[in-house]
Amino acid sequence: MARLDSTLSPLIGSAATHLRNARGIITVADLLAFRPTRYLSYDSELAGLHDGEFVVVIGTIKSAKTRTMSTRRGSMLTAVLTDGEREVDMTFFSARAHETKLVPGARVIAGGQVGRYNNRWQLAHPGYTQLDDAATAALPGRYPVYPAVPKLHNWNLVQAVGLVLDALDPVPDPVPAHLRERHGLIDLDRALRILHRPDTGAQLSAARDRLRYEEALVLQAVLAQRRAEKAAQEAALVIPGGGPLLAAFDARLPFSLTAGQEQVAAEIEADLGAAIPMSRLLQGEVGSGKTVLALRAMLSAVDAGAQAALLAPTEVLAVQHHRSITAMLGDLAEGGMLGGSEIGTRVALLTGSQGSASRRQALADVVSGEAGIVIGTHALIQDHVTFYDLGLVVIDEQHRFGVEQRDVLRSKAENAPHMLVMTATPIPRTIAMTVFGDMETSTLRELPAGRSPIQTFVVDEFRPGWLQRTWERVAEECRAGRQVYVVCPRIGPGQQGDAEEVTEAEDDAPDQPRPEMLGVLETVAELRGEPALAGLSIGLLHGKLAAEEKDAVMRTFAAGDLDVLVATTVIEVGVDVPNATVMVVRDADRFGVSQLHQLRGRVGRGAHAGLCLLATRAADGPAGERLAAVAATTDGFELAELDLRQRREGDILGARQSGGRGRLRYLSLAHHAEVIAAARQDAAELISADPDLSRQPLLAGVIEAWLRPEQADFLEKG
Ligand code: ADP
Ligand code: MG
Repeated sequence: MARLDSTLSPLIGSAATHLRNARGIITVADLLAFRPTRYLSYDSELAGLHDGEFVVVIGTIKSAKTRTMSTRRGSMLTAVLTDGEREVDMTFFSARAHETKLVPGARVIAGGQVGRYNNRWQLAHPGYTQLDDAATAALPGRYPVYPAVPKLHNWNLVQAVGLVLDALDPVPDPVPAHLRERHGLIDLDRALRILHRPDTGAQLSAARDRLRYEEALVLQAVLAQRRAEKAAQEAALVIPGGGPLLAAFDARLPFSLTAGQEQVAAEIEADLGAAIPMSRLLQGEVGSGKTVLALRAMLSAVDAGAQAALLAPTEVLAVQHHRSITAMLGDLAEGGMLGGSEIGTRVALLTGSQGSASRRQALADVVSGEAGIVIGTHALIQDHVTFYDLGLVVIDEQHRFGVEQRDVLRSKAENAPHMLVMTATPIPRTIAMTVFGDMETSTLRELPAGRSPIQTFVVDEFRPGWLQRTWERVAEECRAGRQVYVVCPRIGPGQQGDAEEVTEAEDDAPDQPRPEMLGVLETVAELRGEPALAGLSIGLLHGKLAAEEKDAVMRTFAAGDLDVLVATTVIEVGVDVPNATVMVVRDADRFGVSQLHQLRGRVGRGAHAGLCLLATRAADGPAGERLAAVAATTDGFELAELDLRQRREGDILGARQSGGRGRLRYLSLAHHAEVIAAARQDAAELISADPDLSRQPLLAGVIEAWLRPEQADFLEKG
């Protein structure tokens, strides 16, 4: 008899070697996890043949004919295989070996590439095997087709799996029985047997439901354990709300918080007030007022005698945060200075490219605690940066920071610091529950009142006059005193540029090669020669420019001294120029849906309405439909869900994850939100009653297997 951890070779002989070499399949469990890609039902397969397709067909030999060939020695055999209704010819150029087997009335299963010959379907030199009555009877109602394994025919695999299943002791189920019952799921033993030998489609979906739920439960149990571990971690500093610095800031805030902001502020305040370190994801569109909330949390930390660090993904953004936070604080940011506020603090800026004198000063302020708020880029997490007492870490734009970096920062604090992560990328519910599943989530759904809506239009560049009209519109806007972004998918000819940030949708890869992507360099040249734009100043920005140059360009644009800024996606994150009202995206079809939404959030941030023009040379087809979807809604969550459904799972989970052994096979983050939500509840229940799952050793074992390196990598992708 066999168990899941038995090795295969004693059970299936030499097939085991091929499976190991080609697919790394070693144990019974590995083989049973080798999922058929499709199932044939015998009566339908011959009905839907396509030229060139690889097929496996089962039928009876109707007739067989051997004839000698004039052009070469030997003879040729043609056997007609029928399912009773339709036929396919099996042809062999050396009749001898097959004549005795392919006789009329023989049952065979044959596999090969099907083609058209003399108006008939033909399998030239197919592999086949004879089926006696017993073998026929043992065949499942649906015949599984496995991914190709060199040196093995599909029926070798079917046979091998059959041998294994016949020898297999009942497989114990890691999913607790009460949960199976709750969701009406079959047990693992039955699910595995059905998966490889199903009789009906209904059985198959029951098996898949069971296997899918297990994946969701394991994933959520891991996350629930993480949350529990974090909560049990060494205590964080208790930061009460309502301190004097925060009160002074609130008093001078020129607006009142929206209802959504009030609610999130309360959530953050409750987290900070507990000795358990906060781990909260704050998501909201650009301009939804996240930074104000983060600043309030940082001021509470200072009120509690600790420091707060704000980590930005780019230098431009760090500088901008520093500028706007200092401005919002006014004299509250001049603590310890003549004329500054009594209760104020200082705001230090640490970036990679700052001068050594200012860097030294900043470092000193950080060490001494003079600076209650420290803003920086990666430079912040370098070894020689020492904090006086770090109580809160705010990370802007989560997805650009790895988990290791977060850990380094965490290690700089004596107590575990509270952690607030801000992201402007709307995160679909399933992603929030999985990739970010070890955090609590807060969401700002509305923009503060008074914000002008953005209008978006698709510009088909092939329509005569449309692009010209676009540049005229740009000129009008600039002449009215406002500014314009023109975004391109790359820097210049032959250059990747910042293209790793461009998420092309793979599903609409066209048959013809696409035109070369437009770059910043060509576009700048084009616009400088464009009569409609004569007299306007046009600048450029991309990732290959030196940091000082980037900063200088951004500053010039922010100061209003540039009319048009042609840029790559470097402007995507957080750059705030309220006077910019129009954005033109060139080759917009080269960007992902969410990314376009993100980009257009750069305009219409001031008093004037924003306009986004999505220029494309692929307005027809799926790319055009995606652009139309972006134009049709300003709801980032809706677009994020759309984006999710259009990406492949591997892209969502990260490339390294998708190659892993224990990857998700049945659970799709794009399609199974309900399963994930149910499993999340179940897992929370399980873990709170039994934190180390000592009463569920099987489940604990599956989780352990999950946490092997490549899996952990998935969970920590952030
Ligand atoms: P985010 O960080 O989400 O992009 P910010 O916090 O930077 O958003 O806010 C964007 C702009 O809106 C800032 O100028 C900010 O001062 C302003 N703002 C924030 N909250 C409100 C509010 N409740 N009412 C009016 N303006 C607000
Ligand atoms: Mg912001």
